[in-house]
Amino acid sequence: MKVVYADNNATTKVAPEVVDAMAPYFTEYYGNPSSMHTFGGQVAKKIDVARQQVADIIGADPAEIVFTSCGTESDNAAIWGILKSNPHKRHIVTSRVEHPAVYNLCKYLAQSGYHVTELGVDSKGMLNMNELADVVREDTAIVSIMYANNETGVIFPIEEIGHIVKEKGSILHTDAVQAVGKIPINLAKSTIDLLTISGHKLHASKGVGALFIRKGITFTPFIVGGHQEKNRRGGTENVPAIVGLGKACELAKTYMSEEQSRVKQLRDRLECEILKKAPDARVNGHKTQRLPNTTNLSFEFVEGEAILLLLNEKGICASSGSACTSGSLEPSHVLRAMGVPFTAVHGSVRLSLSRYNTSEDVDFIIEHLPPIIRRLREISPYGRETKVKEQTAKVSAKV
Ligand code: PLP
Repeated sequence: MKVVYADNNATTKVAPEVVDAMAPYFTEYYGNPSSMHTFGGQVAKKIDVARQQVADIIGADPAEIVFTSCGTESDNAAIWGILKSNPHKRHIVTSRVEHPAVYNLCKYLAQSGYHVTELGVDSKGMLNMNELADVVREDTAIVSIMYANNETGVIFPIEEIGHIVKEKGSILHTDAVQAVGKIPINLAKSTIDLLTISGHKLHASKGVGALFIRKGITFTPFIVGGHQEKNRRGGTENVPAIVGLGKACELAKTYMSEEQSRVKQLRDRLECEILKKAPDARVNGHKTQRLPNTTNLSFEFVEGEAILLLLNEKGICASSGSACTSGSLEPSHVLRAMGVPFTAVHGSVRLSLSRYNTSEDVDFIIEHLPPIIRRLREISPYGRETKVKEQTAKVSAKV
């Protein structure tokens, strides 16, 4: 069956070049990088190559990169690591639209006695900078604000955020899981102190991530064990996955301009055609301050779950912010924070592309998604009401 994969913010295909780079580290070079012998030593050297490749894509120094097991671990390590190093500071600032890796951790910390301030967003998913400046205080240990949103693709003005955080003498962590590889990032001239990366969002494998920790930041390790990663993360390194992450970052640098041009054009055409062809459709999130690959659309009065099931029948993979499909009891906290009405949150669909998507993929989605929405509208009691209203409006306009 033909599969059109438009769920790249959930996970990405591992690039064939990445698979090739990883393979020998399962079969030939399986030594422990911490061993004294040359067999292990050559593996340690390859980890250093990967560290340089990861550092390069974000303009960091390799010494500032710590390998982890995933984006969630990097987020947890960043926040815990700073809180533990600054025990007298008990305040955390974050936003209401963070990924659960930060959002739920902050909720947990609030229950454990920390003070957490969650910043709201406007209807376009943007933060209010004045509000940020007002809430950061002397005892704010860390401000954790994402670089780009996984549901809407909205990009926050992270450097502007960083300037405010620095003025107030606090530390800035950013979850850049969705941004790295899609948009240029240069930490050489930046106000960011810690930054999270996840391998499987940029065509590396699952089970690997990285945390950038700026030189000079005092950091207490989250996973305590051996001396790996210069005492910043215990545990034998996942060598094949780390080698793959390095290769994926090198490739992402090469493909960055394509992401900005061809992938963005595909996304724009997809969005534009769906808006034209599907009734009562809207885009959630800022139209320009957005990742080039993501569109989050709402179709009022239809169920996101039903849309996904019918898309799935056609072989189209997407995701939704409706409660049933998001695996939680609550519908998308991101869309709710933006004030998207419940009826639209329930009918939301996220389509996220990658460099592996083709123009034919986009044609296929444009061919199949609007009829699915019309079909669901036909059987929706709300849909019928809308239609009656539309017809009445047309009749009275003619009169
Ligand atoms: N942060 C963001 C913005 C994400 O989109 C994700 C995954 O969806 C994560 C963190 C978690 O990353 P991982 O799946 O590597 O734990």
